[in-house]
Amino acid sequence: MIQWFPGHMHLTQKAIAERIKNIDVVIELLDARLPGSSANPMLAQLTQGKPALKVLNKQDLADPERTALWLAHYNALPGMRAIALDASMTAPAKALIAACHELAPNRGGLAKPMRVLICGIPNVGKSTLINTLMGKRATKTGDEAGVTKLEQRLALAPDFYLYDTPGMLWPRIIVAKSGYNLAASGAVGRNAFDEQEVALELLDTLRTHYPSLLEARFKISGVAQMTDEQALEAIGRQRGALQGGKSINWQKAAEIVIYDFRSAVMGRISLETPQEYAEWLAHGQTL
Ligand code: GDP
Repeated sequence: MIQWFPGHMHLTQKAIAERIKNIDVVIELLDARLPGSSANPMLAQLTQGKPALKVLNKQDLADPERTALWLAHYNALPGMRAIALDASMTAPAKALIAACHELAPNRGGLAKPMRVLICGIPNVGKSTLINTLMGKRATKTGDEAGVTKLEQRLALAPDFYLYDTPGMLWPRIIVAKSGYNLAASGAVGRNAFDEQEVALELLDTLRTHYPSLLEARFKISGVAQMTDEQALEAIGRQRGALQGGKSINWQKAAEIVIYDFRSAVMGRISLETPQEYAEWLAHGQTL
């Protein structure tokens, strides 16, 4: 079980509550591989029903079929839009600006500029996206950069202001499987989880949904019929994660599985669908 809530959230809550009055659209950056688990469940309440844009980030790592399911899921909800992005896109601003205008059609023009708050748990790619969005603009106006940093406000267009979240929006883990998925993705501090436990949970998902990717990567077969422990052992043997030349080094085998998932060398993998996530919330072990 993983529970990780490293403090100072109350300061962020207070700061968001103050900022929200003058915000038209709230962007929440989610990890496209685990959109449900990488969301902060407190955000809806904190942002008081403002129109919401969900950005499924790092889509280059995620399973495109599952990303499509998540986009459809969010786009069906009232007051919500969703788009998928990744850091390699050359002009992500266009889709993002268009979605915000759909959500707040009464905003635009210099008299009523669009004011957007961008939120996301650490490591979801917020700094990278802001840099990509700003492109040359961030560095061009030297003097203004100091001002915008102070105000945490960035002008994406003359009538489009992006506000960075004041403080840190930590993940709030409300269901056990989310904790494992967040740990597998790298969003939880190293010391907060046990690699073997996380690797076994990850293998459970991979054996069920991506057996051929797992088998191809580690040159093993029959993973669907194995237990998670047997799969981890087979991977460890295959990769030479042994101690004393013979018995399995479980820790090393676990690190290999987690590392290979994070770097997407197995292929594009998503750890949850909207339906699965809803089931975990309804029947899973809530924390
Ligand atoms: P922040 O904590 O939300 O500001 O996250 P960062 O912008 O620092 O990114 C965290 C890590 O994710 C870094 O190693 C980035 O290189 C990586 N990253 C960010 N965006 C993407 C993306 O779209 N695709 C991939 N594959 N990696 C990304």
